[in-house]
Amino acid sequence: MAHTVRRSALIPTLDERSVDAILITRLPNVRYLTGFTGSNAQLIVTAGTSVFFTDGRYTEQSRHEVSDAELVTYLGVFGEPLAEACERLGIERLGFEAHDVTVDGLEKLKAASPDVEFVPVGDPVGRLRWVKDPEELEMLREAQACSDRAFEDILDILAVGMTERQVSLHLEQALRRGGADALSFESIVAFGEQAAEPHHQPSHRVLEEGDVIKLDFGGLFGGYHADMTRTIAFGSPPPELRKIHDIVREAQQAGIDAVRPGVTGGEVDAAARKVIEDAGYGPRFSHGLGHGVGLEIHEGPNFARAGEDVIPVGAVMTVEPGIYVPGLGGVRIEDMVEVVEGGCRVIGTSIRELVEL
Ligand code: ZN
Ligand code: ZN
Repeated sequence: MAHTVRRSALIPTLDERSVDAILITRLPNVRYLTGFTGSNAQLIVTAGTSVFFTDGRYTEQSRHEVSDAELVTYLGVFGEPLAEACERLGIERLGFEAHDVTVDGLEKLKAASPDVEFVPVGDPVGRLRWVKDPEELEMLREAQACSDRAFEDILDILAVGMTERQVSLHLEQALRRGGADALSFESIVAFGEQAAEPHHQPSHRVLEEGDVIKLDFGGLFGGYHADMTRTIAFGSPPPELRKIHDIVREAQQAGIDAVRPGVTGGEVDAAARKVIEDAGYGPRFSHGLGHGVGLEIHEGPNFARAGEDVIPVGAVMTVEPGIYVPGLGGVRIEDMVEVVEGGCRVIGTSIRELVEL
């Protein structure tokens, strides 16, 4: 039902762009509009009907997952069934997702349907996905709950001599035990000076007294991603890192306080960035404040520096300031928030103050 409602939300785009139909090729967008979870599919949406295309591996699966659409299974290249559907439905102007179709792919589609005019229509489905419906919010909350449970588990097992890779493996197990279907992404586990890299691949570095431990991870649930970061103190870390944690925590709170419907991404980024700049660490906060999260780990809208995305009610976003000092280490704190009337709600429940083990 939700999928039919989502598809009908594309009808205004059909009118605005004067196209008879829109071809959806980006897989997460096809999933959003149909519920299909396989690895190859395309969808045509017209004002009155939808045609779903996949290959023989997914004939059966699409019958279970995709409702209220005509199902077409094809062998070989997609151009032929697309041409056939366009002819049958009288489609003369067909919108397509310009950010997804390659130049080569477009040439092939045009060659198969020489009478169809292909019209780039931007990313209308991506824009719809900014606003989460109740079903999606439930998945995101559950994904976050799995991640909160995993964080609690991991605090119990950290010990001198463990490697980043071992901690990463424990995290994965804890996430799955906590109910996650899979990892949202490969976990970032960084000890001590390694935490100065915003994105760090877990290595054989061994945990020592006085290290900070930066953990960026999340569980996947029902196709929806959680994304959280905590930086904790193992033993007694360098005083500067303790101070940096206070600044990042304050910056995160300033960011969270700035989130409300109608604000731009740039304004939220600036609110958090100001705290870090005022503390003298401006150049050490080398990335944007946050991103939308849902069927993909990174999606719109964004809390980017000078970003112009206008944040709507129902968006789910990360707020993740960080300070990274080469040779010393780094701190990032990341939480997902749900934008509600008048402000936002933090979805996770894990402690945001410095945990000292
Ligand atoms: Zn993250
Ligand atoms: Zn993130």
